Amino acid sequence: MHEVSLCRQLAAAVTRATGDREVEVVHVDVGELRQVVPEAMRFAWTFVVKDTLLAGARLDLRQLPAVLACRACGTSTRLGPELGFDCRVCGSTDTSLTSGEQFVLTAVDVRTSIPTGDRADRSEAHLGKGDRDGALPSA
Ligand SMILES: [Zn+2]
Repeated sequence: MHEVSLCRQLAAAVTRATGDREVEVVHVDVGELRQVVPEAMRFAWTFVVKDTLLAGARLDLRQLPAVLACRACGTSTRLGPELGFDCRVCGSTDTSLTSGEQFVLTAVDVRTSIPTGDRADRSEAHLGKGDRDGALPSA
């Protein structure tokens, strides 16, 4: 269950960003090639943050499609279920993934003592290697 280790990394990053402030919502972008199951991810999150300062923080997952960009013809196409890495427009193999392998903490909503009625504070941090060029996911 790799969701648990993803949640551990995530919790550590959130804690670094927010310190001891009370976190309400954690926003994460997940590329579909990560093969994260949202329900499993939320379950793992509750398990990982239980008995920590992050207990009660909600996980907001946004799944991003896998997109293949062709260097030969310049087209970007969504990767289909067949997972072919050739350009579907011109057939070139000179392609790279521009989306689909992300696992990024995009924002954290924290509670402040002054009720503003809206999201008060947002922090950003990035997880994992930034390298999303070409390599197939080792699933
Ligand atoms: Zn092409």
